[in-house]
Amino acid sequence: KVRTRFAPSPTGFIHLGNIRSALYPWAFARSQGGDFILRIEDTDLERSSQAAVDVILEGMAWLGLDHDEGPFYQMQRMDRYREVLAQMKEQGLVYPCYMSVEELDKLRERQMANKEKPRYDGTWRPEPGKTLPQVPEGVQPVLRFRNPIGGSVVWDDKVKGRIEISNDELDDLVIARPDGTPTYNFCVVVDDIDMQITHVIRGDDHVNNTPRQINIFRALGKEPPVYAHLPTVLNEQGEKMSKRNGAKPVTQYREEGYLPDAMVNYLARLGWSHGDDEIFSREQFLQWFDLDHLGRSAAQFDEAKLRWVNAQHMKAMPDDALAVLVEAQLKKRGVTPDVRLPAICALFKDRCDTTVMLADWAARFYTPVERNAEEAAKHLTDAVKPAVSMLAKMLEGGPWTKEAIAESVKETLRATGLKMPQLAMPVRVLVMGTAQTPSLDAVLALCTREQVLQRLRAF
Ligand code: GLU
Repeated sequence: KVRTRFAPSPTGFIHLGNIRSALYPWAFARSQGGDFILRIEDTDLERSSQAAVDVILEGMAWLGLDHDEGPFYQMQRMDRYREVLAQMKEQGLVYPCYMSVEELDKLRERQMANKEKPRYDGTWRPEPGKTLPQVPEGVQPVLRFRNPIGGSVVWDDKVKGRIEISNDELDDLVIARPDGTPTYNFCVVVDDIDMQITHVIRGDDHVNNTPRQINIFRALGKEPPVYAHLPTVLNEQGEKMSKRNGAKPVTQYREEGYLPDAMVNYLARLGWSHGDDEIFSREQFLQWFDLDHLGRSAAQFDEAKLRWVNAQHMKAMPDDALAVLVEAQLKKRGVTPDVRLPAICALFKDRCDTTVMLADWAARFYTPVERNAEEAAKHLTDAVKPAVSMLAKMLEGGPWTKEAIAESVKETLRATGLKMPQLAMPVRVLVMGTAQTPSLDAVLALCTREQVLQRLRAF
């Protein structure tokens, strides 16, 4: 059974680049009838925060990336790591190293001066017939992993193809600190073994850790999982997307009015493709997703494209469902909508690419409008006042339907000799605050009669 995981470090708010590393393993598990596991890698106590964990959980829930197991927290698994460490010690897979930080620095300097790659030289690695240095007093050792000597580590990466790293390039990794706490690469392997992960799909910033992790897997008598290392996501400036250069927390996109399905659609395409298909549903995505069509080069985030994708999903969405999302946006502003909202969404959604924009329109039906000053100056002239008051008078009675309203407008035009735009523009500015609206009769019909009369008479 396929088992994948997302293993974020809660050291900052996860952004779109990070969440894409959740989307693919989730989609792979779902499309294969497998399990998706969430693991929070919170061992960096100084940089981890609960707020960051919250954004991970909230963001994933919002996007519908549900997990079957977890969240597991590495900090709660310390006993398990210590247990495996003890077992490895017993099996001679690790050894204590007493080299001090100063000695390590010197070693590094010497190697750099000789133009060698800095690496641990194996001073404390026990070998048959080798005499180890005298153990210094009062020094707590680190534990190092006995990396194999000679040969190489090879794996068929699902994105990058075959990768081969010579063991001579890998020195003996520190897997426990002097205080006994396990280090990152070791915890990942213990977790991936215990959680029976079959496919590790993660960012390619971890590709250098992989040969080390594979060696630890094998030392523990386990076969490593399949790996797929995803290329970086670049921001619009072409830099690696990161919290430091302004990437937004993923939950921010909910506030800005993006739909979860549109986000999934956009992120899916940011490093994976299904022919030329650009707009697709979550179900289609899960049907199509595979590891063979993951992109090999860095993908670049494009906000305009994201907005466009969002607009397509808004258009395709049933008005009732869209209204629920718009209502949530309105409530945040203290605006309470009514039964008219689905119809308002239907009339305005074509000109909006987020639910925030749609809420901007909808709010005009529930709260006093602010007139666009430029348009007001242009359209609200004295010359048009008699026509506006005549229209108001006519709208006082009769049925409140689009057809009846259209008839009243026509009659006003006939009586005053004005052309349609000469009347429609000022009326739109008065009623909606701007002349850039859908057809006048449709907009007026969605307002209440009282609203229209009051807004026209305010002129
Ligand atoms: N915790 C790592 C990160 O957030 C991911 C480790 C992994 O996927 O193996 O970058």
